[in-house]
Amino acid sequence: MMGGRQEDAHYDVVIVGAGSAGCVLANRLSADPATRVLLLEAGGWDWNPLIHIPYGARKMFDYGMYQWGDVSEPDPGANSQRMIIPHGKVMGGTSSLNYMAHVRGHPADYARWVEQGATGWGYDDVLPFFKACESWERGADRWRGGSGPLGTWTPKEMDPIGAGWFAAAKALGHPATDDYNGAQNEGFGKIQYTIRKGRRDSSARAFLRPVLGRKNLTVVTRAIATRVLFDGTRAKGVEYRRKGQTHVAHAGQRVVLCLGAINTPHLLMLSGVGPADHLREMGLTPVADLPVGQTLEDHLAFPLLWRRKQPDPFHRKLRIDRIAVNMLRAQLFGNGPAANLPGAVVAFLKTDRALAQPDFQLVIPLAAIESNIWFPGINTPGNGTICAKVNLLSQKSRGRIRLRSTNPMDRPRVFYNSLTDPDDMATMRRAYYITREIGEALPMEPFRQEPILPPRHLTDEAEVDAFIRANATQQYHPAASCRMGHDADAVLDPDLSVKGLQGLNVVDASAMPHLIGGNPNVVIMMMAARVAAMWAG
Ligand SMILES: Cc1cc2nc3c(=O)[nH]c(=O)nc-3n(C[C@H](O)[C@H](O)[C@H](O)COP(=O)(O)OP(=O)(O)OC[C@H]3O[C@@H](n4cnc5c(N)ncnc54)[C@H](O)[C@@H]3O)c2cc1C
Repeated sequence: MMGGRQEDAHYDVVIVGAGSAGCVLANRLSADPATRVLLLEAGGWDWNPLIHIPYGARKMFDYGMYQWGDVSEPDPGANSQRMIIPHGKVMGGTSSLNYMAHVRGHPADYARWVEQGATGWGYDDVLPFFKACESWERGADRWRGGSGPLGTWTPKEMDPIGAGWFAAAKALGHPATDDYNGAQNEGFGKIQYTIRKGRRDSSARAFLRPVLGRKNLTVVTRAIATRVLFDGTRAKGVEYRRKGQTHVAHAGQRVVLCLGAINTPHLLMLSGVGPADHLREMGLTPVADLPVGQTLEDHLAFPLLWRRKQPDPFHRKLRIDRIAVNMLRAQLFGNGPAANLPGAVVAFLKTDRALAQPDFQLVIPLAAIESNIWFPGINTPGNGTICAKVNLLSQKSRGRIRLRSTNPMDRPRVFYNSLTDPDDMATMRRAYYITREIGEALPMEPFRQEPILPPRHLTDEAEVDAFIRANATQQYHPAASCRMGHDADAVLDPDLSVKGLQGLNVVDASAMPHLIGGNPNVVIMMMAARVAAMWAG
């Protein structure tokens, strides 16, 4: 615990979850010294150097560190796989263990948000908040911010294969973009990371740590919220467990749920806010009948792989003795290969040029996070592979989240329902053909050998579909599970208050009207900054 006294259980605002959204909100709402803010977080502090050293992301993922351990129900559309659903349980939430890609999505995403009832969330409305959040290394311009808390950096070192991808895309008439978060989202570009001075900029590092000294801000870690407490339809506080004890934190103004797209609907339903029939079936008395957890989205993806011709240059740096020294160097000085990850290529592309915005994303990791540490004489590195991961950005299939039981410690059931809408498979199939064509174009020949996944060129539609179903996985971007909007599926009003209730807000990935076309971390941070300004009037 840091900040105010724990026994003082009365606050103006209680924020649950110190993740991408929660840390930004704690920063913004405690800026007014008259507002007493409590931030509750289920995980512990982010002391582990693996969180801060960029290469550490790979190791944390491999060892399943700081996660809730969720796995989906068998997903019939993806050969009944149970998908892993990693999301963070530590200060900074998932922004402390994600892969740090900094992506805003396309302006048309926000036009769609407004169409869906999210008044005040068009691109012109949100742009000032994106800019205020970030420190783009090339400085401020019409699109980018130069002095915000969140560092944003493009790797300087590029695997030579990157040039092959850019040339292949150009040869086939695909656009390139110098800054996919700037004037032009569409096209092939270099990845931007939320890294500052060789260290991950999580929301905890960028937004929370600088304000920990505020007397009106209390942070309690290892505190698991189990229920929102109501007085009629007004949220009056949160019950939570810590070290085997049950506590209550009262909120005079508002309770803000920032638990992420899986845990926020879980806590709402445990508190009686959700589909009334499901709540009654579980033995709960509904406080509000709302479609909580009914419109879950994620980005479905599948990889294409080829064998590389030349050794991957980054892989050589992963020899056990070299990477050990480089991890230490990154920890002490914030430099060297473990801090300065080599660049990745990302592309936002359309399967039909007439579309208003890209409908799939290619992520081409170029070594870095995908490479593994090796031991001389035991597992010497081969040349490695060339990987292009195809992410579906325009998913129409919707999943849902249900209670497993009324015990808050039991994890909820997550049904992805992948590829239940036939348009999703049609888009993924077209994206497969396009990606294959780029990967096998002439400029890639100096770098590429035979295909590995799939091992031969698939032309038959049924074969392509079977390949996609067998290799599809969700991309760890769950969202829109308590969406804002004005239709029957919406749970939140545009100020992110829960419909029909007072004093209760949801600010995290679950609040998106639909999942934007890209990686969502900075979008969620923007949402927190934007809504804090709305509440301030
Ligand atoms: C492996 C991986 C890689 C990713 N890579 C990228 C990337 O490169 N770029 C990108 O933009 N996005 C990426 N993402 C996704 C992105 O990081 C998340 O979408 C985003 O961080 C979610 O933010 P949030 O605020 O909604 O929730 P979170 O950041 O998950 O925060 C929720 C917080 O609430 C806490 N909490 C939950 N339940 C309780 C409870 N009952 N009581 C108290 N506290 C609770 C959690 O412990 C957590 O700290 C990645 C995700 C993963 C898993």
